[in-house]
Amino acid sequence: MSQAFAIAIHGGAGTISPETMTPEKYEAYTEGLKRALDKGYAILEQGGASMDAVQAAVMELEDCPLFNAGKGAVFNHVGKHEMDAAIMNGQDKSAGAVCGISRARNPIQVARAVMEKTEHVLLSGAGADTFVVEQQLPIENDEYFYNQLRYEQWQEALLEGTVQLDHSEKKMGTVGAVALDQAGNLAAATSTGGMTNKKYGRVGDSPLIGAGTWADNRTCAISCTGHGELFMRSVVAYDIACLMEYSGFSLADATDKVVMQKLVTIGGEGGLVAIDNEGNIEMPFNSSGMYRAMRKSDGTIKMAIYK
Ligand code: ASP
Repeated sequence: MSQAFAIAIHGGAGTISPETMTPEKYEAYTEGLKRALDKGYAILEQGGASMDAVQAAVMELEDCPLFNAGKGAVFNHVGKHEMDAAIMNGQDKSAGAVCGISRARNPIQVARAVMEKTEHVLLSGAGADTFVVEQQLPIENDEYFYNQLRYEQWQEALLEGTVQLDHSEKKMGTVGAVALDQAGNLAAATSTGGMTNKKYGRVGDSPLIGAGTWADNRTCAISCTGHGELFMRSVVAYDIACLMEYSGFSLADATDKVVMQKLVTIGGEGGLVAIDNEGNIEMPFNSSGMYRAMRKSDGTIKMAIYK
């Protein structure tokens, strides 16, 4: 019998109140999640690699304007889009990432190309945009990334002079996926537009290996979403893997300790999706909601937004 396989995805964590969630919105979000979950799961089911499954799931979410990544990326201070993404292979801990890129249709595809086509792990800004062109990866113009809701959020943030996490109410963001394939390999991928009205080339946790994204076959694969600064300072994803590797924690105990205790202590709002090398999945969050879904080869399927 082939080994168990599974995938978990997220579309961002934050303050999502059931009161403002219309049935139409709920359906649109769950439809978006379902499409991504199905894409990734189908690859695993056919015996494909977890790297391909997480990339496919994240690309689907990047193409959906509802989530803060790719097409739905938020506006920065000067009305542009600066996107971050990372992907990691748990088999050999190879990884690729980009930050502050503005033209790629699918930042996660660029992160994968960084991993496979260069000797580097993280490319940034203009250089990374040049890489996108050189690799002939799909690029889009400003019109593609324009979104009325995102524009209004930016205008609001500009007026208030705030830098907003894509987390409060209508502003949900960041997408990610983790998977275990039939060969026993783990992988993780995360992609985001970062924070509305962000300045000075701000980069969050998502593209940073160990902070927002991590995969190691010996322990687990993790994709985070939340207040990037606090997630970086807590090296969240790697901290969970360390608790498992060095202290023998289970995935459930390690994710609980980091998300529900350590992050809460420093005010780090958010959550993550995590999978271990036996296919156990955890999707903890300390905010009021997190768009999330998972499916396992034993038939378990879950999709939820609130606790
Ligand atoms: N973690 C992301 C960042 O700080 C934001 C998010 O997850 O919504 O860039």
